[in-house]
Amino acid sequence: MVDAAPLPRRTIAIISHPDAGKSTLTEALALHADAISEAGAVHGKGHRRATVSDWMEMEKARGISISSAALQFEYRGHLINLVDTPGHADFSEDTYRVLSAVDSAVMLVDAARGLEPQTLKLFQVCAQRGLPVLTVINKWDRPGLDALELLDEIEREIGLTPTPLTWPVGIAGVFEGVLDRRSGELVRYTRTAGGATRAPEEHVRPEDARAHLRDHAGPMAAEAWDEAAEADALLRADGADHDLDSYLAAVTTPVLFASALLNFAVAQLLDTLVDLAPAPQPTPDVDGRLRATDADFSALVFKVQSGMDAAHRDRLAYARICSGTFERGMSVTHAATKRAFSTKYAQVVFGRERTSVERAYPGDIIGLVNARSLRVGDTIYTGQPVSYPPIATFAPEHFATATVTDASRWKQFRRGIEQLDQEGVVQVLRSEARGDHAPVLAAVGPMQFEVAAARMSDEYGAPVRLESLAYTVARRVPADQVDAVAGLRDVEVLHRADGSALALFMDRWRLQSVQRQHPELILEALPAGA
Ligand code: GDP
Repeated sequence: MVDAAPLPRRTIAIISHPDAGKSTLTEALALHADAISEAGAVHGKGHRRATVSDWMEMEKARGISISSAALQFEYRGHLINLVDTPGHADFSEDTYRVLSAVDSAVMLVDAARGLEPQTLKLFQVCAQRGLPVLTVINKWDRPGLDALELLDEIEREIGLTPTPLTWPVGIAGVFEGVLDRRSGELVRYTRTAGGATRAPEEHVRPEDARAHLRDHAGPMAAEAWDEAAEADALLRADGADHDLDSYLAAVTTPVLFASALLNFAVAQLLDTLVDLAPAPQPTPDVDGRLRATDADFSALVFKVQSGMDAAHRDRLAYARICSGTFERGMSVTHAATKRAFSTKYAQVVFGRERTSVERAYPGDIIGLVNARSLRVGDTIYTGQPVSYPPIATFAPEHFATATVTDASRWKQFRRGIEQLDQEGVVQVLRSEARGDHAPVLAAVGPMQFEVAAARMSDEYGAPVRLESLAYTVARRVPADQVDAVAGLRDVEVLHRADGSALALFMDRWRLQSVQRQHPELILEALPAGA
């Protein structure tokens, strides 16, 4: 049978601060694209499925999402892979790693709050990876900041030049519609009950827009149109017009104004993703050679997760396909061990639903069930061997010792800790001085400790006592300087499973004073999320 050519892919992640509206927007996008029939079916906090494991109870209880899901839907002849980033207030490394699996990001900003800390942190990871970023200013239906002020803030805080694709007609809170800056048209939206269906859109020619608004929405709305037209001219004079190459080079960020809740501008966002967002590109391997997307199959594991389903204590490795065609059941090679394994149980994960995937293409995310040997950063391939650069671990800022509370569970404790380290739930650091019984757990966000503790007791039957340590900064130390650094006051040197050494400092001041006093020591900053 001859295969039809696969649909072109857009693989994206939404980065935002909690409460900016990521879940609402995700639902709105999927709803628009007909992936689901009713808003609320994917992430709806009131509609959580019951088949979650015990540690997921924690996420349910808090109404937060700890695990990432990949959502795939079709729009205008394209397949959009939306890789979800965990949205809780604390960071975990998962959030960063997801960004290794996408080709571009949507930065979602709350119109009333502007850029918030978590958005900025995630943006830094995008910047380090050179990911193109599209900005969506959300909640324009509610009172918020001035649109030009928001643009200034973006330029000032993240250094990208905002190039609005649309301009709102009406200040935040009076969302009459938008001026489409490329066509000059007015796009008007109509509210629907509860926003649970698509918001009807009306396109009005530029020359009719003012009169249309006056007749249908009153003189204030007509004035708002004049103001939008003025802002448009101002932006043009400023050179703030969209330019595809600058967006792809992560120099500019196109901007849309939206209300995810009312489904306003959701279609525009989808159109923009299809028209502007990059398709999967050739991926550089460890030696910098590019593997073409139509080369033999290869994929990068960016997330490993256990215990998603209490009924089957399984382990799911998520991989992003970089090249070639994936066919379920095919035997692939694990680059790290050169061992072959079968992919009989590959799945696509849709929200919490899983279905078998028969075939998948570059940009798609597959879940491999019980692929026990796979770790975050691993490459799998067929044919021509390839290894992609590992996904770097992130600079931990929180540290705690873990000890088993019931000595008879020591074996389970050791196994569990090793497993959590492999999965990257937390980083595990050891030293001879601390011994095997009290490894140090290191995390980007303290939430990772809670997840680790919950899983140690639920999955391994080895409850742990965590005691936080006063360190907040970690630096990598070359092997030949470990002894010199370990001898310093208030500094502790610990080792990762891969043998690399980390020096822990109470704070930046202590680190700086060590650096001043010992300029010969190389204390390498870990990439802040890259
Ligand atoms: P998340 O934490 O980023 O996933 O945010 P949610 O999607 O859960 O939204 C947080 C809150 O903001 C919820 O109460 C939403 O109903 C509300 N919200 C999201 N988008 C909009 C919007 O466009 N307009 C308004 N008025 N509220 C919104």
